[in-house]
Amino acid sequence: MIAQNNLKSSRERLGEKVFFIYRYGNVSYLELLLGASDPYNFLTRYRFLSKLAEEDAILIKSVQEEMENVKKWKIELNNKEKDIKDTRNELLKQKDSLTKKKEERNRLLAKTSSERAEYEKALRELEESSRTLETLIKRLQQTAKGPGLVGNLFWPTNNRLITSQFGHRRHPIWGIDMFHSGIDIAGNYGDNIYAVSDGRVIYSGWQSGYGKVLIIDHGNGMSTLYGHCSQLLVNEGATVKKGQIIGKVGSTGWSTGPHLHFEVRKNGSPINPLSMIK
Ligand SMILES: [Zn+2]
Repeated sequence: MIAQNNLKSSRERLGEKVFFIYRYGNVSYLELLLGASDPYNFLTRYRFLSKLAEEDAILIKSVQEEMENVKKWKIELNNKEKDIKDTRNELLKQKDSLTKKKEERNRLLAKTSSERAEYEKALRELEESSRTLETLIKRLQQTAKGPGLVGNLFWPTNNRLITSQFGHRRHPIWGIDMFHSGIDIAGNYGDNIYAVSDGRVIYSGWQSGYGKVLIIDHGNGMSTLYGHCSQLLVNEGATVKKGQIIGKVGSTGWSTGPHLHFEVRKNGSPINPLSMIK
């Protein structure tokens, strides 16, 4: 009974000591064993420490497992965080690209409508110019004499390619109707322009839309017009011969590139040049 009590109290003491070791970790198991007062005490201490070591091992293992789990969760969390960041960045990029597309579309819309307005303005200008020329030609023709456009006419440039026909047409995109008062003949900047028949120069100068323009009166109410020239080589009042070089091809006035705008007019009104010249 006394021995048991001793054991119990020594157990308790050991327990305290072990708690102390656990708590402060400054005494090793070996020191504890070597501190035994006799073999019995040694054995008691040994058993206790063995049990303790076993529990420690289990505890350490479970702590290690927990730590492993925590590590895994941390990696998983990091990955998820990265995924979220990536998704967010992707969304931001998409938003940015959408904004840019929207801006581009608005810019194009604005550009198109301003181009359309410009086109319409140029058309009206050209129509007005054409009417002005009609009045001008009628007035100037009153004193002009000549046979009119007879016989084989001289083709006005060295190029035979017609890029735009005479008459009504509609803009392919904007659907605006316009009247083309002549034909457009392809050409290079500086190409010769020839008088299609004998006549007298009644206009040599600038006309809005037409740019540098020449008008030759051939008599009998017939005149020819040469527009968008880069150079005018004959003056008003000059008499010209069929096939004579009268100017150079250019892109003056409302023109998208060098070409000859050629008109034939009867009493000042434009008629299809191809009905007179082939
Ligand atoms: Zn034209």
